[in-house]
Amino acid sequence: MGKPTVLVVEDERDIQDLVEFNLRQSGYRVLKAGDGLEGLRLAQSEKPDLVVLDLMLPGLDGKEVCRRLKQGESTRAIPILMLTALAEETDRIIGFEIGADDYLTKPFSPRELSLRIQAILRRSAEPEAGGGHLRMDGLVIDPERHLVEVEGEVVDLTATEFRLLHHLASHAGKVQTREVLLERVWGYAYEGYARTVDTHVRRLRKKLGKLSEAIETIRGIGYRYRSGE
Ligand code: CA
Repeated sequence: MGKPTVLVVEDERDIQDLVEFNLRQSGYRVLKAGDGLEGLRLAQSEKPDLVVLDLMLPGLDGKEVCRRLKQGESTRAIPILMLTALAEETDRIIGFEIGADDYLTKPFSPRELSLRIQAILRRSAEPEAGGGHLRMDGLVIDPERHLVEVEGEVVDLTATEFRLLHHLASHAGKVQTREVLLERVWGYAYEGYARTVDTHVRRLRKKLGKLSEAIETIRGIGYRYRSGE
């Protein structure tokens, strides 16, 4: 009920104003913070539905804010969309320890930002896509408990990694194109974001350990979870 609240953490005034204006137009309630520490405090006290977080911030940078939000019991589930100045930073943002849900590279169009936010919120409002409990060679996926086990060991996955693995494994033996994965797992289908899929698959494989090879790369097309047979 009510408008979804978006917290915008950005030190550049022009961008902050532009984002605020556009998100208000799109029907969101907007909170603003001009540095990392203030952003962290607001996120903790206000529990927004989503945080738009700039990477380069004075004091506490975006990476650190993201890390602390993902560690906090009460803020862990808040989706984070990172803003970055360089496309090359992507790997660090979604590929490694930070755990942001999505990212946009500056300069971005306000419309693009709204679409991304919409997709993330839609995704987090849905119960886990696909539903069913899966059990296949060494892998157990239990969507109800948001639990993944590889050969009996629990693997800690982010929400996006979980959805990605669940989608691939529940379509085992069938090639999934990057476009389909973007649409089903991320909730949007734009060309040019194939890299997002690749980066997540890379990180997911690393976490799967002994089963890392179960996700096969189909060159130029996409990915396939190997079938049991
Ligand atoms: Ca900045």
